[in-house]
Amino acid sequence: MREELVALAKLAEMDDSARDIDAELKQIPQSLEELRDNVQTLETMLAQERQQLAEAEQLKVQQATELKERNEGLQRARKKIAQASSIREADAAEREVEVNRRFMKEREEELGRIGQTIEAKTASLTEREKDFEEAKGVLQAKAESSKARIVELEEQRGKMLNGRDELVARVPKSIVKRYERLKTGITNVVLIIKGETCPGCRMALPPQLTIELQRGNELHQCPHCRRIIIHKNVIED
Ligand SMILES: [Zn+2]
Repeated sequence: MREELVALAKLAEMDDSARDIDAELKQIPQSLEELRDNVQTLETMLAQERQQLAEAEQLKVQQATELKERNEGLQRARKKIAQASSIREADAAEREVEVNRRFMKEREEELGRIGQTIEAKTASLTEREKDFEEAKGVLQAKAESSKARIVELEEQRGKMLNGRDELVARVPKSIVKRYERLKTGITNVVLIIKGETCPGCRMALPPQLTIELQRGNELHQCPHCRRIIIHKNVIED
């Protein structure tokens, strides 16, 4: 069992040394994904603002057409006043003038508001386009540098884990399985202990366990945190 525990301790040490690399390898695609999300969000907002601007422009044309029509109506009504042959006709034409004037005033006010909207939208659209281009640039640069970094990390990892398979072969399959399972939930799964406390959770170990640990006849786990514990003497003897 000693041999196997030694191999397991070495395996864990090897995996621990590659832990930072593994973490970085895992983190790279995550941060790329975040940047991609950001670009996507900006693109959606950009499309929305372009749509809003297009709608405002459309509304402006519509209001301007109505204004023109009302103005023509006003001219016609004025002509009617000039040509009226009775007071009744003149009064009716006068009312027509008033109605057209009122509508024109409303259209003009509306056009003023639309103009302000268009101005504001155009300004924010320019900002948004700038943000979008910037985010796209950041993403592209990050994607390129990430590619290079991944190659570098994989190479380092390969070197660090050189001989891992041989170590795995020296540890019983059931123990490797247990080790791999524990590794997904906690860090420093295999700990070398000297005294009577678990260095992982700092809890005191039962005296009987401390004695058994020094014999190194079987695999032990900390009763508190489940980490695999191996006594220093077992490794060094
Ligand atoms: Zn523990």
